[in-house]
Amino acid sequence: MNSIDYQQIAQWLRDAERAVVFTGAGISTESGIPDFRSPGGIWTKFRTVYYDEFMASADARHEYWHQKSQGHRDFADAQPNAGHLAIAKWESEGRVRGVVTQNIDGLHQLAGSKQVLELHGTAREIQCQDCGARYDAESLVAEFLQTDQVPQCQQCEKGRLKHATVSFGQSLPTDVLEQAVEWSQEADLFLAIGSSLVVTPAADLPVIAKRSGSRLVIVNRDPTPLDDMADAVIAESIGAALSEIDRAADT
Ligand code: ZN
Repeated sequence: MNSIDYQQIAQWLRDAERAVVFTGAGISTESGIPDFRSPGGIWTKFRTVYYDEFMASADARHEYWHQKSQGHRDFADAQPNAGHLAIAKWESEGRVRGVVTQNIDGLHQLAGSKQVLELHGTAREIQCQDCGARYDAESLVAEFLQTDQVPQCQQCEKGRLKHATVSFGQSLPTDVLEQAVEWSQEADLFLAIGSSLVVTPAADLPVIAKRSGSRLVIVNRDPTPLDDMADAVIAESIGAALSEIDRAADT
């Protein structure tokens, strides 16, 4: 496809019964959330705290909370954009089965998406690493910023509290990943949005979908290694592109 045929993509979306949307950082940068891994992102400014270190050392836990609390401001006030909203609408219309995301910002849920597989967890919640209790991140981050003390689990009273995200040195949650693979195998349309598609195992999902007979549409500002395999590639703003597909699908 040379020029972008939004009508064609909209037709695929209308015909789809088990479409899957896969999203990376690109969709959230349009909501003003920096790509943490990009140059100047917070992960390049701070030293990396690995999971084992977090578990072993109180100093590492303080450093982790310091970094996360700085980063929290970047997304706490962010709102879903036209891209998130289009995806949520397609799910409510029964066109999309669900979203698999690499993002930890919770913006898909804020937009109204119900079926969301978070491969890297969520920064909107805190989880006790000892008893598993979960808390809303907002108040605990505020507490840390006020007191400079790492908060403690109220349930087990001494548990180590960490954002419910996948840390460096931690593997992806197996059950979430298995579900994502199953959706990809069963997909008849796979939309890969705002991901460079280089980090495995997440980048394997479009390949799994394609090999299982799905159509593949890639929406990303920069070229990806899977562009040659795709049925359509859109190098436009995600919000604009998804709005365009949505308009075409409704007419
Ligand atoms: Zn606990």
